Amino acid sequence: MARKKKLLWQLYTSFLMLTITSLAAAVWYSSHSLKQFFLDQTKMNLEARAYLFEKQILEHLDPLDEKDIDSFCKKIGRQTSTRITVMLPSGQVVGDSDKDPGAMDNHVDRPEFIAALGGNNNIFIRYSRTLDKDMMYIALPVKKDGNIVAVIRTAIPVDAIDDALKKIQIKIAFGGLIIAVLAAIISLVITRRVTLPIKQIKRWAESVANGDFQFKPAVIESEEISVLSDAMNHMSTELRERLSSLMQQRNEIEAVLSSMVEGVIAVDMDEHFIKMNAAAAAMFGCNPSGIHGRGIQEVIRNTELQRFITQVLNSHKLIEKDIMIYSDGEKYLNGHGTLLLDAKKTQIGALIVLNDVTHIRKLENIRQEFVANVSHEIKTPITAIKGFVETLRDGALKEPENADRFLKIIEKHVTRLEAIIDDLLSLSRIEKNSGKEGIDLTEGRIKDVIEKAVYDSKFIADSKKIKIERNCDDNIRAKINAPLLEQAVVNLLENAIKYSDEQTEINIKVNQTEDETIINVLDHGIGIEKKHLPRLFERFYRVDNGRSRDSGGTGLGLAIVKHIVLAHGGRISVESTPKKGSSFVIHLP
Ligand code: ADP
Repeated sequence: MARKKKLLWQLYTSFLMLTITSLAAAVWYSSHSLKQFFLDQTKMNLEARAYLFEKQILEHLDPLDEKDIDSFCKKIGRQTSTRITVMLPSGQVVGDSDKDPGAMDNHVDRPEFIAALGGNNNIFIRYSRTLDKDMMYIALPVKKDGNIVAVIRTAIPVDAIDDALKKIQIKIAFGGLIIAVLAAIISLVITRRVTLPIKQIKRWAESVANGDFQFKPAVIESEEISVLSDAMNHMSTELRERLSSLMQQRNEIEAVLSSMVEGVIAVDMDEHFIKMNAAAAAMFGCNPSGIHGRGIQEVIRNTELQRFITQVLNSHKLIEKDIMIYSDGEKYLNGHGTLLLDAKKTQIGALIVLNDVTHIRKLENIRQEFVANVSHEIKTPITAIKGFVETLRDGALKEPENADRFLKIIEKHVTRLEAIIDDLLSLSRIEKNSGKEGIDLTEGRIKDVIEKAVYDSKFIADSKKIKIERNCDDNIRAKINAPLLEQAVVNLLENAIKYSDEQTEINIKVNQTEDETIINVLDHGIGIEKKHLPRLFERFYRVDNGRSRDSGGTGLGLAIVKHIVLAHGGRISVESTPKKGSSFVIHLP
């Protein structure tokens, strides 16, 4: 685009052109008029001189005295710096101030002479062959008794007039030049005055455009500019209000989006980002700032998401899809995608809302696994029971020795089923209680809990001649649910007994620090290999299936312990060395 001229220079050049043109016209007109005036004056002068000599010339005409006339012409011509020529009506020159009349041509053909005879007193400027220069002539008839007896011609050289005229013209031009310079300066001042408020308004508009509403121009005098300024002021106020309301709306939307737990991604039709909130950015591990306009593939490298977005852009209904991503392990996102429409309901892109459903999916997996495990755990005893019942019915009932043995096996499996169901019920009870408003916690003495647990386990401990040593201060108290904590300690003790050889020792140590109450159950049994430790507290997880089942284990004992400890707001840890023993530690807050 061609660079626009400044208003100041546009106005200024117009002003200047106008001034210079009018000045030139004025100079031309005045010098022209002056020339005319000068010529008129000169004509009158020449005429007046010719009339002055008329009388003297008449005296020398009758009788004609050429010599006197000539010497008179020469005398007066010298005195008045005028060329004077006297001619007879025949055109013969009888006197001339500058030349010898005898040597001069007959002047009958001279235009001024012809004009004088015709009664005109016109002025003539022409070249004088006699004097070899341009002259201005005027000729007058000299009459006697109504008859023309001679013609007096007065003349002066044109260069004399030209010199005088030139001098005046130079003065006029010089004056004009000074006026032009003055006009240029004044024009500049006036133009500046006219354009200054416009310049101020321009600066104002620029600062408003830059979001600066503080700047206001100084007092504006002219009416039109003042109207413009008012309009500008109104516009600026309106703009500021709209801008601030827009900003507020934007901040609100921004706040809503950034407070959302759900990830929100908006893309345009070319799959370029319009918006991504903090939650979405965190899900995909990218920075949400400065992504506007960037391609989705460039920022998020997830083919599932890209395919989902393309699908949403090409479809006209709400689409739901699960997307798997890898960030700190596997994560499952449940995405809902819809078209993004503008105010005119035109499709401008797609909006994706993502929910992190990793936890739900994991729970679902756990539930499925749990159901499978429970079914498996229950199926074994049920199959056994069914088998032995059929055997009994098929005749074994009549063999008292076998019947008794089979019935004992059936009883064992029923006990096992009962144990599994008891443990499952306990687990579900603990989960239910800790889930809602939490379990009831009251301040209680830990030693009492330990003693009761030891008492409950005494029977099986004695059966293996295992000694349970306790080391617990009487004063140690904590916020606990005594029956549940007791169950947890019993489970740990029973495991310790189950997985220890006869005549070994089990230690229970209770300590209290500033933050925690620590209950440690330590045995010198078979221990656990390190690889099993992370999964030890999962339901139905067993290190050695056969041994656990033989010893009446359900695989739920440690899961119950973990849930009880979690319901107390604490945690459980384990350290173990195979063939040396295990140490389970309950940390209560
Ligand atoms: P179980 O009813 O089979 O004992 P638990 O949940 O109580 O189920 O224990 C899970 C598994 O942890 C057990 O099968 C066992 O292999 C191992 N375990 C638990 N406590 C001990 C321990 N004190 N010493 C060795 N192994 C243990």
